Amino acid sequence: MCDNARFSRSGSIGHIIMSHGTLFIVSAPSGAGKTSLVRALLERLDNIQVSVSHTTRPQRPGEVDGENYHFVDVSAFERMIERGDFFEHARVFDNYYGTSRPAVQALLAAGQDVILEIDWQGARQVRAQVPEAESIFILPPSRAALRERLASRGTDDDSVIERRMRDAISEMSHFDEYRHVIINDDFNTALTDLESLVRANRSSLERIRERHGPLIEALLSRDDGVE
Ligand code: GDP
Ligand code: ADP
Ligand code: 5GP
Repeated sequence: MCDNARFSRSGSIGHIIMSHGTLFIVSAPSGAGKTSLVRALLERLDNIQVSVSHTTRPQRPGEVDGENYHFVDVSAFERMIERGDFFEHARVFDNYYGTSRPAVQALLAAGQDVILEIDWQGARQVRAQVPEAESIFILPPSRAALRERLASRGTDDDSVIERRMRDAISEMSHFDEYRHVIINDDFNTALTDLESLVRANRSSLERIRERHGPLIEALLSRDDGVE
């Protein structure tokens, strides 16, 4: 499903680039609020972007090609698989979804943190290639709330909603494969939790060393005679 290009924090991504941003995997059952939370997070933080996936699912009213997804047909998607263009891809709800490898590489190389809004199958593929990726699972506060949110979004018909409710249970059964879990009950609380995870990652020793090497060196230098 995925090829064996490897990412490492300060080394190569296969034969391609140096990586400086962090990958954040965000998964949730459809309707749990992941897209709304990620959009709000991008308004609070700089230097973080969301990867725009390719999908064969029909465009919903209000969705913009190239912004929400790159909408492609099955044959175009299959050509991309053959060319090895996907960092990960999976079949979800009878449609294909996939993350473009070059797009993600370019963002990480530019020092951007990158959010992948992907399902549990894609998350496994990413973890296998990038063990240091952060992973976050978003749960709804109840099944009733999930159904209500799917209906209130007004973008899917009843049969799609029923199918997504059934699939939600199997998606949620993978929550314990993630390092962090956020329950999206009160939106602002969940958003603050998500923001805290990104900020904590940014202050980790590994990232501080990587981004602020000259500052650390200057602070620790004994050259100016200060003991
Ligand atoms: P939503 O969950 O209601 O927003 O519905 P979407 O159609 O946007 O997403 C459907 C499913 O596909 C979700 O589980 C997403 O996490 C997953 N998904 C979206 N993009 C990707 C991707 O690039 N790769 C993978 N593996 N899954 C994706
Ligand atoms: P997902 O991307 O996980 O499918 P969305 O972000 O599209 O979910 O959210 C589904 C619906 O639920 C949207 O109409 C959104 O406004 C609403 N929603 C998201 N979070 C909350 C929350 N904490 N409380 C109430 N409604 C919410
Ligand atoms: P929707 O069709 O409602 O936009 O998304 C349905 C599901 O597909 C969501 O759970 C979403 O996370 C997942 N999904 C969206 N894009 C990708 C992707 O690029 N890769 C994978 N693996 N899953 C994706």
